[in-house]
Amino acid sequence: MDTNTMTPNTVAVIPLDVAPRFAGPADQFTGAVQVESLFYADLAGTNGGGMVRFEPGARTAWHTHPRGQTLIVTAGEGWIQQEGEARQTFRAGDVVRIPPNVRHWHGASADTAMSHIAIAEFVDGESVTWMELVSDEAYLGE
Ligand code: MN
Repeated sequence: MDTNTMTPNTVAVIPLDVAPRFAGPADQFTGAVQVESLFYADLAGTNGGGMVRFEPGARTAWHTHPRGQTLIVTAGEGWIQQEGEARQTFRAGDVVRIPPNVRHWHGASADTAMSHIAIAEFVDGESVTWMELVSDEAYLGE
């Protein structure tokens, strides 16, 4: 099943084992990160979502989202920082809202793995703009 080319007017159940899984690329993530693509901009062409699993200490690079992003935290404890603001902690069950075009990073805390479902809308085929990796000093809030 190609989840990108499903018939728009037909209800589709996407089985668990067809979701593409891949390691977070080293230019977009620090540490051990597994990405599982759950759904794409396949119907109205506007959004997509994925499960992202971060091992302790792992985090995204700095990045922005053109229409913002919602994180539904499914396991563990993580950190998020908006540039220029203090780092914040979130835990399983929390929902994190990220406004459009705000530079930020998110990931696991230093000692605890974390998983979240990330949902973002696409603009011109892109839902994220990647920037530089997060330094250890920034990650640790030093
Ligand atoms: Mn983000």
